[in-house]
Amino acid sequence: MRNYFIAGNWKMHKTTGEAVELAKALVEDLKDGKNKYMIAPPFTALDAVSKVVKGTNVMLGAQNMSTEEQGAHTGEVSVLMLKDLGVQIVILGHSERRHIYKEDDAMINKKVRLALKHGLEVDLCIGELLEEREAGKAEAVCERQLREGLAGVTAEEMKLVTIAYEPVWAIGTGKTATPDDAETIHYYCRSVLADMYGKEVADSVVIQYGGSMKAENAKALLEKPDIDGGLIGGASLKVETFSPIAKFNS
Ligand code: PEP
Repeated sequence: MRNYFIAGNWKMHKTTGEAVELAKALVEDLKDGKNKYMIAPPFTALDAVSKVVKGTNVMLGAQNMSTEEQGAHTGEVSVLMLKDLGVQIVILGHSERRHIYKEDDAMINKKVRLALKHGLEVDLCIGELLEEREAGKAEAVCERQLREGLAGVTAEEMKLVTIAYEPVWAIGTGKTATPDDAETIHYYCRSVLADMYGKEVADSVVIQYGGSMKAENAKALLEKPDIDGGLIGGASLKVETFSPIAKFNS
């Protein structure tokens, strides 16, 4: 049985003070929530937010990390630094990293393996562009991103991996995949995972949906059999828009 996992990606929003304020309000509001929760503030607020979420049911996430453990990599943040701050999970392969910062599957895979080597959970984002969907390639793109992103990851390590299916055309656009369209891809991704790791592992992997998820559409998406949670951008920036999604089933 998979638990629902509702996660907030704050992207490049919130000063430290604002982040602490939002984290405190969420911790209070979600304290009796029955799902798995994560918030991913910007790097600059991780230390302060870490102190707020410590010992609560809200996990601390980071939005990215370097391919390297340490060294001459100006501007990068390493897995060791994240762990030092109490980060428990890292979002990797987000479409903004893939398409704005040109991260490819090989680079994302290097980050995935490094995070897992250090015991960090990984939230691996995959998803097709609009032109890829229109060309009938959505499934093939997601399959490639899964197979290449997870290359070298063992079945045992998959216990630390969440997949987030985020069609790029739905992120921050207000356009959401229909529950049926999203379910089709989630089901396909689970079949790819079954081919890679066997049915038992595939059935236990949480596959989140991301892309303009909000209180109004969350329940219909999350009721689908292969949609196990959400990775939420815009709606994660306020308690009043995130909490109703996080508590959609209470
Ligand atoms: C995201 O960035 O992961 C995301 C899903 O954003 P939004 O909810 O704003 O579409």
